[in-house]
Amino acid sequence: MEIIEADLFGFCFGVNRAVDIVEEKLEEQKKIDTLGPIVHNPNVVEDLSEKGAEVVNSLDEVNTDSVIITAHGAGREIHSKIREKGLNLIDTTCPIVRTAQETAEDLVDRGYQVIIYGENDHTEVRNILGWLDGRGIAILDPNADVNIRKGKVALLSQTTKGKKYFFDFAARFLQVHSDELEQVKIVDTTCGETRRRYEAAERLADEVDIILVVGGKNSANTRKLAEVSASTGIETHHIKDETEIEPTWFEGVKRVGITAGASTPQSAVSAVEEVLEQFDDTLVD
Ligand code: SF4
Repeated sequence: MEIIEADLFGFCFGVNRAVDIVEEKLEEQKKIDTLGPIVHNPNVVEDLSEKGAEVVNSLDEVNTDSVIITAHGAGREIHSKIREKGLNLIDTTCPIVRTAQETAEDLVDRGYQVIIYGENDHTEVRNILGWLDGRGIAILDPNADVNIRKGKVALLSQTTKGKKYFFDFAARFLQVHSDELEQVKIVDTTCGETRRRYEAAERLADEVDIILVVGGKNSANTRKLAEVSASTGIETHHIKDETEIEPTWFEGVKRVGITAGASTPQSAVSAVEEVLEQFDDTLVD
């Protein structure tokens, strides 16, 4: 069975940058707290935890003098609380996420109601909304019942959603709400890093019989990658790591494709490939 990797997969520059910052800090101090997991990948979080980076779920749990804000960023209230508590802030917010936050804040200051195409409960989305003082919402369904205020609306996207999905959402939203809208701005805040990974998965689908998408189940971009892969019609399995591989998937399979989310380290992909390489030839044909 041949293993073919997507021509682009795995850690994006924002995640690489965040992990590098945490590792650099851990050289200066033995223990550090991160507000939430630094990336949505349990193996990376565990590895950093062994090196001294503990995940805390609220600022009240911080028991060092520094706290790390993750690549997904934090809202205004969290920044204020960190200052009030006198904690040293180490900010690993991805520059692309920060741009989305600043864009949304600027738009509400200019009187727009911000509507984010995204998951309401996702950390990144919550933290973009966290700069808007209640003047923004997040929805996934363009048909959702939205109370449009004053007709001045800006549509933005969760960074990991994929440009074409965002534009489809925006087109449908405009149709559904055309009677209530007066001024509309559509600002593409999707991330090119994730889009390029989605496109690579689509190319991979042309070459293989089955695709494995490796990465945390709590990672929005990995879930989206699996969705994009499955939408090509190719059999797709999203696995958190090699322990979730089912040998029965590969009966008759000649070429297996591998891709991985932006929060998945190379070591996780290599571990999956090692397991596949051990499969007996009897599984093939
Ligand atoms: S996926 Fe994009 S927005 Fe998210 S951390 Fe990576 S580079 Fe930044």
